Amino acid sequence: MKSDRALPVAIVGGGFSGTMVAAQLARKGIESVLIDGSGREGQGVAYSTQEPAHVLNVRAEVMSAWADDLEHFVRAAESEGDTRRDFVQRQQFGRYLRTILNEAVEARLVQVARHQAISAEPSASGWSVRLDDGERVDASALVLALGNQPPEPLPFGQHSARVINNPWGGEALAAVEDLASSHEDVLLVGTGLTMVDAVLSLDAAGHRGRIVGLSRRGLIPRGHSNDMVPAPVEADEVPHGHVGTLWRWLRKRGAQVGWRAAVDSLRPHAHRLWQAFPLEEQRRFSRHARPWWDVHRHRIAPEVAQRLHDMIAEGRLEIVAGRIESVEEEQHGLTVTCRRRSRTAVEERSFAYMINCTGPLGTISRTRDPMLKGMLADGLAKPDALGIALDVDERSRIAGARLAWAMGPMTKGRYWEIIAVPDIRGQAAEVAEDIAMELVR
Ligand SMILES: Cc1cc2nc3c(=O)[nH]c(=O)nc-3n(C[C@H](O)[C@H](O)[C@H](O)COP(=O)(O)OP(=O)(O)OC[C@H]3O[C@@H](n4cnc5c(N)ncnc54)[C@H](O)[C@@H]3O)c2cc1C
Repeated sequence: MKSDRALPVAIVGGGFSGTMVAAQLARKGIESVLIDGSGREGQGVAYSTQEPAHVLNVRAEVMSAWADDLEHFVRAAESEGDTRRDFVQRQQFGRYLRTILNEAVEARLVQVARHQAISAEPSASGWSVRLDDGERVDASALVLALGNQPPEPLPFGQHSARVINNPWGGEALAAVEDLASSHEDVLLVGTGLTMVDAVLSLDAAGHRGRIVGLSRRGLIPRGHSNDMVPAPVEADEVPHGHVGTLWRWLRKRGAQVGWRAAVDSLRPHAHRLWQAFPLEEQRRFSRHARPWWDVHRHRIAPEVAQRLHDMIAEGRLEIVAGRIESVEEEQHGLTVTCRRRSRTAVEERSFAYMINCTGPLGTISRTRDPMLKGMLADGLAKPDALGIALDVDERSRIAGARLAWAMGPMTKGRYWEIIAVPDIRGQAAEVAEDIAMELVR
């Protein structure tokens, strides 16, 4: 992995974040090694799905990977017969990203290491990253682009093959196939975007049993509208610093221009709004407002929203607000006892499987990633004040570390809205620029 020229930048994580930092560095003639052991390099979790029913949550026109060429993806989509207004398949966006990565690899500016990184430590030349095959990558700088950490395992059925904790893994795919032939009932724990994917996969596979989605509040992502009229606002029209005041503003604005336009009008100001909240307000937002914000802000394609609506109307999908009290494994399935939010009585139901769709891990110090765990234990990185991601400065540099940056969801404590492509592509350009500046010093 060593080069006889300047050492490459080590980028750990080959999803959208890592791929775009590598591509941005390649444009500047800076070499990198993109480390990802999942087999999804160039695509990451979101865009490696092969399920045609999994479509983008936004229209093609906002999905360019390049901050300085906003029509880039539209051109790629049009060349495949789609239009800028389409919600194209996520696998199509995955192919687009792979093409960007392949171009940088062919130019010999990016090398892909198909391995998990198991440790990273500072060295005389920058950073030394150890891989799970025992190899080491000696690097001039380090970028952590590990994405969201997988959810905490469900506190039930820890040794049961019917309780599936990784909704993106092979076990989940096998469960979907099994359910599609048995048509038995399934419990999806969590009712956000991961649940939506699971419902679409089950539906597309031909499952006709009952699907129950359960979460504390039972909120599900809302759909985009085909006739929303944008209503942009200037930053100084929006109240800063207090969650309650912002909420009241949002309600009032929503009544005037529609809630979708009101929510979207905050997007360009999201980083500033978030950073203007004192820590206690950030905590308040995360605790109380976040579930509401997530379902209104991170919307789904209108066709997908309609499909969910139809499945609910047909009685095939039931959304429950409540909590699980206990899970018993029986010979042919699981008996789940749950308590609905509004009721005191508990109810017992049987399911063939239970799939963890609770979304990303909320407390970074509970990560199970050996490299991240080690870096946190050794003080090479620390959690942000909310404990949800890494502490980074205004240039996404990892606090207290030299020549180390973090990307995407790993920086959500600082930026909050740093999950979607339009946010991450800008950050990738800025981080690459900052790395270039540091390396030529
Ligand atoms: C289901 C889903 C649908 C989405 N749809 C949209 C959409 O339509 N539009 C939009 O704008 N955004 C969407 N998003 C959000 C967004 O695009 C992604 O969250 C974003 O791609 C994050 O990319 P990432 O590279 O930071 O993380 P990831 O995609 O999670 O990639 C991180 C990679 O790092 C690897 N990794 C982790 N630890 C290590 C290690 N120690 N060593 C080596 N490799 C490691 C992982 O295996 C993974 O491949 C969606 C997200 C999801 C989950």
